[in-house]
Amino acid sequence: MASIDDFIPEFDVRERFERRVKAPPEVVMQTAYDFDMQSIWLIRTIINTRKFLLGGTQDKRNSMGLVEETRKLGWGTLVEEPGRLLICGAVCQPWFGDVKFTAISPEDFAAYNEPDQVKIAWTLETIETEPNVTLFAHEVRAAATDDEARRKFKSYWRWARFGIIAIRLLLLPTIQKKAESMDDDREDWERAWSSAPHRRLLDISKYDFAGRFKLDLGDVVAVTVTIAPFEYADKLYIEDDICPICGATTVASDRTRVSVNPVFTKIPNLAFGSWAHSSCLENCLIVNDPPQLLGNTFRVQTTAKGS
Ligand SMILES: [Zn+2]
Repeated sequence: MASIDDFIPEFDVRERFERRVKAPPEVVMQTAYDFDMQSIWLIRTIINTRKFLLGGTQDKRNSMGLVEETRKLGWGTLVEEPGRLLICGAVCQPWFGDVKFTAISPEDFAAYNEPDQVKIAWTLETIETEPNVTLFAHEVRAAATDDEARRKFKSYWRWARFGIIAIRLLLLPTIQKKAESMDDDREDWERAWSSAPHRRLLDISKYDFAGRFKLDLGDVVAVTVTIAPFEYADKLYIEDDICPICGATTVASDRTRVSVNPVFTKIPNLAFGSWAHSSCLENCLIVNDPPQLLGNTFRVQTTAKGS
């Protein structure tokens, strides 16, 4: 498995921070990627003070995610395993106010030894320690390429370390709080949908379910509909007014928002939002097993098209 050891096995400084977060690894990683570091005023102050002390330019910036921002600053990606591990690296001369980061390819990073430079690599790591609990880690390592760089870097590091550690100590709890509340939303969402009334269509010939997706899905073998929970009904993306149960329009009728879940021979779990006649719903078979599809397909679809 890839690790920061592959890139900076021997280092002049190393900082590692870990935190347990009650959310799945993908949620934690996504939160970390999207995190706008400068949205915390204390971090903003530290960054601007640092620049002020070192004589760099104070720049105005737009809000952006952590990973996007560091990439813009010149950091290269050494390893990226989605939801699991990100290792970024660059070389720089951090004793200058306007630090210029230069990316080095993953193949050349470990061997890179141009004089008077400092190689820095940092990670975002997630390990699922138990279901829905993630150990989130962030590690930074730096190694100077020669003694002269090491001397300058060490005297810089003595006081820079304070600011850098302050940033990390603020960053991790904030990511934790965000990831955990995102996960609560997801749990609420799943709870609401899985207890929503759920019915099976007796006749699936009145509507072109395969045509709806414009994909080769095989034949439709069964269709269920789930009545949208009240609190999520507004968020459901609905493309047209056709009732999937009878194939007629629902305009000016007593109608209900539903999630339609067709099962195709090639793909069992797809869904789309729709209106259905309340009377047509009455004629469907009530099924007691929870809705088949409450997975990501549905969420992606509604968030991508909706809002
Ligand atoms: Zn109908």
